[in-house]
Amino acid sequence: MRHLLVIEDEDFSRSLLAAYLETGGFIVSGVGSGERGLAAIDSGKIDVVLLDLGLPDLDGIEVLKRIRARTAIPVLIISNRERVEDRLAALEAGADDFLVKPFDPRELTARLKVVLRRSGSSTQRSEGDGEALRELRFEGWTLRFSTRDLISPDQVAVPLTPSEFNLLAALASAPLRVLSREKLLDAIARKEDAPIDRTIDVLVSRLRRKLEADSRRPQFIVTVPGFGYRFATPVTEAMSATGVR
Ligand code: CA
Repeated sequence: MRHLLVIEDEDFSRSLLAAYLETGGFIVSGVGSGERGLAAIDSGKIDVVLLDLGLPDLDGIEVLKRIRARTAIPVLIISNRERVEDRLAALEAGADDFLVKPFDPRELTARLKVVLRRSGSSTQRSEGDGEALRELRFEGWTLRFSTRDLISPDQVAVPLTPSEFNLLAALASAPLRVLSREKLLDAIARKEDAPIDRTIDVLVSRLRRKLEADSRRPQFIVTVPGFGYRFATPVTEAMSATGVR
């Protein structure tokens, strides 16, 4: 069973969410502050996080940034902030999805499913089907499907969020070809949740910060104005020798 952490300071809303999600088959822990949320994540047992932005101790965006400095586990924002700027700030800081309060709990469940599907559950889904052993290599970098992360030329594992991984996998699987934003949205399975137009651009800028020496003059993910993006370096495909961890 998946262990879900709710970081939400309103007691009523937190217990309601916990009760609902427990009946949906999650193990649920709830905390009322950012610091306690981070401590729970440090325990290493959390699979997915619901994060409220208005918290008493730390702003939710700050909590999100600190989560991302630790781990790439899926984070879904639940907030009463409705402005596009807030959604973009959350996506930019590494959120996987954003749900404006009040929401129908059925929509929450549906989005959680999407986020968890994107995040892989890769061990169940791809064991033995070859995809899990796939690796894409370019300029010393390795995009590794078994662990859904990126290994830098000096062998440091760079954690990627589920959306970042899927987007980079789509780009690097079609090297030197131009891919439209629509095509890339399909690749990250966002279409069904009515994406905001800039989703792909925000994810690309996040990937560039992780991948490019100078993110203003990208060598790998190149913008094709008015159309989309192109992965601008040759890629070799390999099968992992070490296998699934
Ligand atoms: Ca709140």
